[in-house]
Amino acid sequence: MGLKRWLTTMTCLMAAGVALERPHVLADYVSLPTVHAEEPSPAIAAETKAVAGATVAGAGEPLPQFIPGGHELKFSNEAEAADAETDAAPQAATGAIVPSAVPHAGDAVPPVVVEQAAATPDAKPGAKPQVITIEPDPTLPQAPAKAEPAKTAKPPPLVPAKELFGAAKKPSPLAARAIGTYARGCLAGAVALPVDGPAWQAMRLSRNRNWGHPTLVKLVEQLALDSKERDGWPGLLVGDISQPRGGPMLTGHASHQLGLDADVWLTPMPNRRLTRREREDIAATSMLDSTDIAVDPKVFTPGHVQLIKRAASYPQVERVLVHPAIKKALCEAAGTDRAWLGKVRPIQGHYYHFHIRIGCPAGSAGVCKPQVPVTGDDGCGKEVEEWIARVTPYKGPPKPRPPRPPGYKPPPPPPPITMASLPDACTAVLESGPDGVAVPPEPKAIVNAPAALKPHLKKAHTAKN
Ligand SMILES: [Zn+2]
Repeated sequence: MGLKRWLTTMTCLMAAGVALERPHVLADYVSLPTVHAEEPSPAIAAETKAVAGATVAGAGEPLPQFIPGGHELKFSNEAEAADAETDAAPQAATGAIVPSAVPHAGDAVPPVVVEQAAATPDAKPGAKPQVITIEPDPTLPQAPAKAEPAKTAKPPPLVPAKELFGAAKKPSPLAARAIGTYARGCLAGAVALPVDGPAWQAMRLSRNRNWGHPTLVKLVEQLALDSKERDGWPGLLVGDISQPRGGPMLTGHASHQLGLDADVWLTPMPNRRLTRREREDIAATSMLDSTDIAVDPKVFTPGHVQLIKRAASYPQVERVLVHPAIKKALCEAAGTDRAWLGKVRPIQGHYYHFHIRIGCPAGSAGVCKPQVPVTGDDGCGKEVEEWIARVTPYKGPPKPRPPRPPGYKPPPPPPPITMASLPDACTAVLESGPDGVAVPPEPKAIVNAPAALKPHLKKAHTAKN
């Protein structure tokens, strides 16, 4: 197993809140593009994008030098609209994640709209940020048409939003709202899933990720009770939900940012209260056999089928994510009642746990962006076989890598999500209350900036109503 793939696998396992029992060569949807180099089919690409709420990854370019530190920059409506379009990229057309446009050296420097931070010395408290448009100065010599951007320019420092959200230990004292998209947003008014309940135990307590939107937390409790009382399931071990104020996380998960996602272990709950230490150390059970592309019938039981079916049965639940081998097993076990299968979506990882995602809850209208609805098709047959092929470990001889040109440097990793690319309301979510986390001023966004700069500064698109 290559180092990159190993790291991917480990990251995904950490993301899922499970410990490694044996090193399956599989990855969480978070890092899908690293698993297979070949192009995914439109259906797979569309679903991958839909479930992760993924946006186009940034190209890693530094911010241009003309953005002054300490100022907040604002998208024009036009730039916002362009981003919204990218976000809502036609799923049916190709579904593929398209690379962003590359800026051309020598593109004219556009005017920049600068939003003065309200905290500048002459700003009155509560005053609205002042918006100034800076036109290029015609008296100054203009850059030659094809000049390279100066290489010595230092980009202003960016504070990764995951550090700010990771520092929030308690929820915001605001009304409950899920704000933004599943992979780029935050959560106001979170509540905690109690670490012990009549039919569940929360795991990995040190992560402090047992926080969710009240609707989701209620749903998890309901699933635990229903599956115990009606299906005879011994109880749920619940992995990651969200941080106290949602948002990006220091480790793992691209999604889980709105408090609307919950990981539930496929390991049945033991018939006793686990200690805190055990909740950190116990390894989850893989459902796969030695081929990695089929469930082990000694481990994956009719009880698991019923549990996942139960989870998919609630109207609030829009998707349940499982490994393709589990999806295939469900297709085979479902019999004639198949409507629920459409919500159960195959994706890498998810063989130690399944992932429940509910839709935007009441009270979050206008700020929570709904995900692409499932098609209603049960997803069995050809579709699940395509997923199985995709996760089948490669067993052939090592493939030769194309030679690198001399002086080749690998592209830098995409920059982290910053507050500028989250909805503005997420700043209030972070800062509110005595346990709030102060958000330092940062360059916000760039009007008409080269297209390649936009993805990592991209705002989470929120619904219009
Ligand atoms: Zn998850």
